[in-house]
Amino acid sequence: MSNESTPAIAPGSTIGILGGGQLGRMTALAAARLGYRCHIYCPEADAPAFAVAAAHTTAAYDDAKALDAFAKAVDVVTFEFENIPAASVERLAATTLVRPSGAVLATAQDRVAEKTFFAGIGAGTAPWRQVDDLPSLERGIADLGTPCILKTRTLGYDGKGQFRIDRPAQAAEAWEAIKGAPAILEGFVSFSKEISVIVARSPRGEVNAFDVVENLHVDHILDTTRAPAQILPDQAERASAIAHAAATRLELEGLLAIEMFVDHDGRILVNEMAPRPHNSGHWTMDACITDQFEQFVRAVCNLRLGSTERHSNAEMKNLLGRSIEGWNEILSDPKAKLHLYGKLEARDGRKMGHVTRVFPRWKTESK
Ligand code: AMP
Repeated sequence: MSNESTPAIAPGSTIGILGGGQLGRMTALAAARLGYRCHIYCPEADAPAFAVAAAHTTAAYDDAKALDAFAKAVDVVTFEFENIPAASVERLAATTLVRPSGAVLATAQDRVAEKTFFAGIGAGTAPWRQVDDLPSLERGIADLGTPCILKTRTLGYDGKGQFRIDRPAQAAEAWEAIKGAPAILEGFVSFSKEISVIVARSPRGEVNAFDVVENLHVDHILDTTRAPAQILPDQAERASAIAHAAATRLELEGLLAIEMFVDHDGRILVNEMAPRPHNSGHWTMDACITDQFEQFVRAVCNLRLGSTERHSNAEMKNLLGRSIEGWNEILSDPKAKLHLYGKLEARDGRKMGHVTRVFPRWKTESK
């Protein structure tokens, strides 16, 4: 249990990060700026974060021996990827600090637990039904109507493990498509915008959120984030209040990204959350006093949180696959800040980097 007297993990300490993708890489860079060392734990060889971290372990997430050695080598463990087996998190937590906690991770890993949690803090979601077999799917479709979306309860991301059902007759096909995994059926939200909020909470109980942003997805993958979101002030307040309430109720120690819909009646409905830095927060690196990665490090190490003030408006675009080949052109745009993740193979749809175009507020708002 943490409180105001929980000590800080001082600069010079080692932060262990489960996961070695771009989120781990940018976290390690932010940690290094504050004088920390990072030790990355990831099953893949040549993970993007390895190149910028003090140490790394290449091992499976359920390798008990490697996990024990990792726990010994670090002062705190966090993660940049949430599909970590619960048993591994428990094993680490037995001998070292794990932030956010396994309980937060468990809530975020399971769409049923997640929806139940948000209902408990009074936040709306799409209507949903738990699906465990074909008859429960058929009952769900009859209750919610079509279109609706069948999603696996766990292990889904970027639209993977999902099937859109347009006609009741597609039930069996949908069930087969997700291979009969425990699932959730969601009513289809006819939304006017997708937005997200990233909030930090430190073990000492400080809570601080970034401005609400809007997100455009293409083929289920984030394409563009615009900061701030063009929504009504009371909608932004509502989204931010949900983020504060979630971080507080979860007793979060770290960072939490919450994706939401603004529906055609102007209501805010939560889609899902991720207890880690998030692609829709990359804009903060170039447009806020403290960026999401530094805030993440501050929260995990129980430092005072930084100011999330947005000094510039921003538009972040992901660079997927071969679109990274335009790097030279991007560099000649005076508004553009280019971030590349050092991935060698530009496979289709792979997140290779991002570019943020910044529009300083003193130029646009002082006249
Ligand atoms: P998810 O993996 O849950 O984030 O879903 C990926 C994307 O699918 C979301 O960003 C939305 O664009 C879309 N989507 C997911 N759930 C729904 C829903 N219940 N209604 C409408 N669109 C959805």
